[in-house]
Amino acid sequence: MNILFIAAEAVPFVKVGGLADVVGSLPMTLAKEGHALRVLIPAHGVIDHQRHGLQPVDSFDMPWAGGSARVEVFHAGREGVDFFFLRAWPYFSGQEAFVYDWDEGVNVGRYLFFSAAALAWAQRAADRDGWAPNLLHCHDWHTGLVPFLHARLYNGSDALGGAATVFSIHNMQHQGWGVGWHLNHAGLPGVDHGLLHASGRADNCLAIGLAYSTMLSTVSPQYAREIVTPAGAYGLDSIVQARQSRLVGILNGIDTVRWDPAHSAVIKAPFSAAQIDQKAQNKRALQESLGLPPRRDLPLVAAVSRLAEQKGLDILVPGVRHMLFHAEMQFISLGAGDPHWEHEIWRIGNDFPQKAIAYLGFDEPLSEQIYAAADMFLMPSRFEPSGLGQMIAMRYGALPVVRAVGGLIDSVPPEVGFLFSEYHHDGVIRALSAGLEMWYQHPRDWKTRVQRAMALDFSWERSARQYLDLYDEARRYQRRYGEAAF
Ligand code: ADP
Repeated sequence: MNILFIAAEAVPFVKVGGLADVVGSLPMTLAKEGHALRVLIPAHGVIDHQRHGLQPVDSFDMPWAGGSARVEVFHAGREGVDFFFLRAWPYFSGQEAFVYDWDEGVNVGRYLFFSAAALAWAQRAADRDGWAPNLLHCHDWHTGLVPFLHARLYNGSDALGGAATVFSIHNMQHQGWGVGWHLNHAGLPGVDHGLLHASGRADNCLAIGLAYSTMLSTVSPQYAREIVTPAGAYGLDSIVQARQSRLVGILNGIDTVRWDPAHSAVIKAPFSAAQIDQKAQNKRALQESLGLPPRRDLPLVAAVSRLAEQKGLDILVPGVRHMLFHAEMQFISLGAGDPHWEHEIWRIGNDFPQKAIAYLGFDEPLSEQIYAAADMFLMPSRFEPSGLGQMIAMRYGALPVVRAVGGLIDSVPPEVGFLFSEYHHDGVIRALSAGLEMWYQHPRDWKTRVQRAMALDFSWERSARQYLDLYDEARRYQRRYGEAAF
């Protein structure tokens, strides 16, 4: 099968969140199964062309807003997958030092342009080198317009018309409002879907992707159940409900070669499940490098996260403060994001200098050192579509202390982690206290849990099989109903 991924970010080229991990990892696993994979992302200004070996391969002109936009295409091969990158003007000129502008309205125009250019390039690539996709796999609201433009503009195309579309929701909260004006401005057709107009969502990129795609997926079975509810759907519940029969939940995997405590170049003492005492060396190295007292006898609680409301910071901050004040533990936080939460997290380090440290920024090697050193990994998310941090933590023998929502329920077994339900800092306190009690009072049980955690399989192979079933189903629908598949 020829499969084209279209998305805003992909590791190792550019990463803001877990979306990049999925788009940069799943294709490799699918390619190993014998499929032909291409991945298309914007040539963001933050991508280092030299380091990743990007080569210019094509350029073309695309009609846009009454004028013509020059689109340049770059390529880099990686583990059997062809990655392509689009650079253009006025959007994605390579000058921007960001992936997402803070202003959603600006992003809507940018990513509509990218979606249109992606299809124009796919058509051109099919004409030039004969590579026609059987399946377009789009991700999150940034590419929500691709299934719509595909249905409206490419239905008659020999190369693209027969392709089925799959739209994956990695986060329901971010939707991309206001695309109607941009469609009109660009000279593209307006959205004509009754369901969208009836629900007042014809202007919403995520809703458009949901309405026009052949099949839908989200990144955990539990999140698939949550996004049909008003609380989980952020205003799109009627649309998700209407299309629920086309929706599946597939838990994300992690790149188990990239995230391997036994073969890591950045941690002090690589270790496997048979040598978990080695974690103590990693803990000491981290404590020393970050300036915390090198106490082996204190449990180290860590958080590695975007500092966004979604991550439950309003219950994390008071919960962790309470624990640092009343209990014997250390706390390390690595994160960047909302300035308000950066400040709140920084103040924890400031107020408990002997027990806590807050590192503000995005630092992947440091994150790995933290996973390897930590005893517990705190993730009290308000909602969590899948979550990767808790899976990486378990692979490195850190037990998750998580809120029982979304992918956290699906990935953290109760006999491994410490889960709580209510969205309140009392829940954080209770779950952390349960963890601390086991750490101090029942070290043998603790060790058993760590071994269970490290034995869990979060490889992409499991998820990839489910995606292939989903692709087959999408193609069956597409063959049977054609454009009316939605
Ligand atoms: P989300 O996609 O909502 O940000 P996930 O848990 O799915 O959350 O994925 C987050 C990924 O980003 C994990 O791999 C985590 O280790 C990484 N990460 C988050 N914040 C940082 C940071 N400040 N520095 C390094 N890695 C980070």
